[in-house]
Amino acid sequence: MRYVSTRGTAPVLSFEDAMLSGLARDGGLYVPETWPQLSPETIRGFAAAPYEDVALSVMAPFIGDAFSEEEFRAMIARAYAGFAHGARCPLVQLAPNHWLLELFHGPTLAFKDVAMQLIGQMFETALARAGRRVTIVGATSGDTGSAAIEAFRGLGAVDVFILYPDGRVSDVQRRQMTTPGEANVHALALDGDFDACQARLKDMFNDHAFREEVGLAGVNSINWARVLAQVVYFFTAAAARGAPDRAVSFTVPTGNFGDIFAGYVAKRMGLPIDRLVIATNQNDILHRTLVDGAHRKEGVRPSISPSMDIQVSSNFERLLFDLYDREGPAIAQLMSELGTNGGFTLSQGAVAALRAEFASGRVGEDETLSAIRDWHARTGETLCPHTAVGVAVAETVRDPATPMITLATAHPAKFPDAVERAIGTRPALPPHMADLFDRSERVTRVPDDLTALETLIREARP
Ligand SMILES: *Cc1c(COP(=O)(O)O)cnc(C)c1O
Repeated sequence: MRYVSTRGTAPVLSFEDAMLSGLARDGGLYVPETWPQLSPETIRGFAAAPYEDVALSVMAPFIGDAFSEEEFRAMIARAYAGFAHGARCPLVQLAPNHWLLELFHGPTLAFKDVAMQLIGQMFETALARAGRRVTIVGATSGDTGSAAIEAFRGLGAVDVFILYPDGRVSDVQRRQMTTPGEANVHALALDGDFDACQARLKDMFNDHAFREEVGLAGVNSINWARVLAQVVYFFTAAAARGAPDRAVSFTVPTGNFGDIFAGYVAKRMGLPIDRLVIATNQNDILHRTLVDGAHRKEGVRPSISPSMDIQVSSNFERLLFDLYDREGPAIAQLMSELGTNGGFTLSQGAVAALRAEFASGRVGEDETLSAIRDWHARTGETLCPHTAVGVAVAETVRDPATPMITLATAHPAKFPDAVERAIGTRPALPPHMADLFDRSERVTRVPDDLTALETLIREARP
């Protein structure tokens, strides 16, 4: 399989090179040249198969010859061995014909682990083979950074530096980043907000001399390998509910459009998905895009579902590429309008195609809290605020005759303040995390200054 840029002018790459380079050189995102197809027989077989076997079948056509089958199988096994549930991503029934797909049984309690654990293995194997070493630098508002540190801790070919805004992540998120003791991982508390973290990260990637010197690499959600690993659980969940002989729908709490784009990929590969529902919080650019047919930025308003507080959903560009019949120059034009005018209007054909595949809904802060409260009272189930947004939207749009699967993107204990506001008690950490508050922390405070950051990273590498 070869990978092309959504903007049409970057070099065509192999899976391995697309994974290691992240963003394409023309500013676009890498997507596979074609969508591989899985037969109904293959999908039917997933209902009785272990998660790891499905992962191998779904991802193999995208990987090409990057890894041998044996090598890839072993990497998948290592990636998910640490998940605290035998099914890895189990389904739990919430209401008649409405299920939760629990994606939070990984080491940092959010769905980011599903992809990041595997990416850690893939980087390690590819780099060791090439005799290379890279420095991964990431900016996080909480979940991505903890998942990255957990995935790369102790690996030999990678140093990881995660910038987070000092004082603006939850205690659980911070401790997940600061308690791993391995020498190759570094939590950096930056004196500034998340935008400052992202701006300094961008500056580092634009400093080409520094980029070369340390072998800078990125694992944010535009990395194709992350999207790919998320395609797997759409197959396991749909097969468990009767696919391919019955269509199912999914509702996805959405920020950067990575997770729901993985659902779209599953559909392109032959999984019968009726509706893909985009659920947003008050930062609702994607919901407005479906309603208005125009994609317009507004300022981010911080919410109690912070991992969805995003106004530029990077992975939406991958969908636009398909909606515009894979015409790179058209996408480059739209993205330039987004940069200069803060938005663009979609063509009629693109809007029609978008509405044919997706539905959407938006949930405000009060509704999120009452969803947590109501579902807890009705079912005893405690939802994290992101999942609550998904469930609330799913209930308003779903057709009772079609199974609805809402993605549960984080464990409620990762967002205890919001949950306590809703139900009056703080959810307990699961057993494998129970001692998180007893572990010692290791963190470096850093100024919002590029030169100081680069010096620190140079000196902290072996
Ligand atoms: C990252 C995240 C999301 C949003 O996922 P995207 O792929 O960015 O759309 C939703 N919920 C939680 C808990 C997350 O960590």
